[in-house]
Amino acid sequence: MAKHPNTVNAAETDIVQGLHTTEPQTGAVMPPIYPATTFARGPDNALINDAHIYTRDQNPTYRLPESMLARLENGNDALLFSSGMAAGCAVFRAMKPGDEILVPDQMYYGLRDWVRHFAETWGLSLRVYSVADPNAIRRAVTSDTQLVWAESPTNPTWEVTDIADAAAAAHDVGALLAVDSTVATPVHCRPLDLGADLVMHSATKALNGHSDVLAGVLVVKDPSLAVWQTIAKERGESGAIPGPFEAWLLQRGMRTLFVRVMRASQSALTIAQHFENHPALAAVLYPGLPSSPGHDIAARQMRDGYGAMLSFRFRGGEQAALEAISRLRVFTRATSLGGVESLVEHRATAEGASSEVPPDLLRFSVGIERCEDLVNDLDNAIAGL
Ligand code: PLP
Repeated sequence: MAKHPNTVNAAETDIVQGLHTTEPQTGAVMPPIYPATTFARGPDNALINDAHIYTRDQNPTYRLPESMLARLENGNDALLFSSGMAAGCAVFRAMKPGDEILVPDQMYYGLRDWVRHFAETWGLSLRVYSVADPNAIRRAVTSDTQLVWAESPTNPTWEVTDIADAAAAAHDVGALLAVDSTVATPVHCRPLDLGADLVMHSATKALNGHSDVLAGVLVVKDPSLAVWQTIAKERGESGAIPGPFEAWLLQRGMRTLFVRVMRASQSALTIAQHFENHPALAAVLYPGLPSSPGHDIAARQMRDGYGAMLSFRFRGGEQAALEAISRLRVFTRATSLGGVESLVEHRATAEGASSEVPPDLLRFSVGIERCEDLVNDLDNAIAGL
């Protein structure tokens, strides 16, 4: 008798092996890329394969990464998009004029600016809740609310939303909860397991992990939801989908998701702990620190770590932050996050005129370099400030 059942339980194992798929004709352990934009019919005019007519949302290269993403989030269906923004926008576009939507006061600024404008032009009633107030969603929802949007942890101050509580508050009034879980990654948090209806990622970040693909994804628990049907139809018609090569790169990147994210998150925690009481810093923002306001919720709803993103606020204000960023040698000064290489940015500069980020803040995306090199780089950069 076998000692263990002959099945795989860990998402980690499934993902490393691309859901244990091999290409049936050749035995290739990596799937082929189908660059074809169109798919043939036989002499009887019937499609050779019913699932494929035209590439816009039917390219076979999309299927494996979508199945891997559904597996990662414990969902039952996933849709790839051409960017994280395209995925997020698709959810709001599925609302009808007159619908009420609730968004947090801190969220990825690109989507925040877009949704403020879209709500105005599309006739949505937009209400904003404070992520710092744990009861804000419950107080803000009304019987007209159709959608509650959450981002956890929030970019770039890493506030944490209690997803189970937000889902209950949304469901009590018949609304849906959608969560941008880009920063948490499926390694650390699975919003659908906590009650969310939809989860969104910028797959450009840790899911791909190599700063060379722009992509987004939505995953759903219940694909029969009307909103999911609307989103899928709209995607097929509008074509906001990555090309086959990007989809293929994404499935390749995801195979190393767990090792990359676990190492980067461990380094982020080490950095946060090392610099927490540094005299040059007014605050180290990281949900893994017990001093962080969202730590208790994060400890409950995240596992195996708290993510690879953290921020420093400088006692010497913007001047000190800009001096520190200029001195860094190992961190690359660039926007974005979730790649193998560590990045730093002065977020207020990156976001531009509409930014609500304090100018004394530097944002770090921790990569998988040797942690000691990162700590030393930061130590050198902020010494004497
Ligand atoms: N959500 C978060 C939390 C992000 O950080 C970003 C991009 O930085 C996005 C969404 C948008 O993703 P994309 O750049 O893939 O459109």
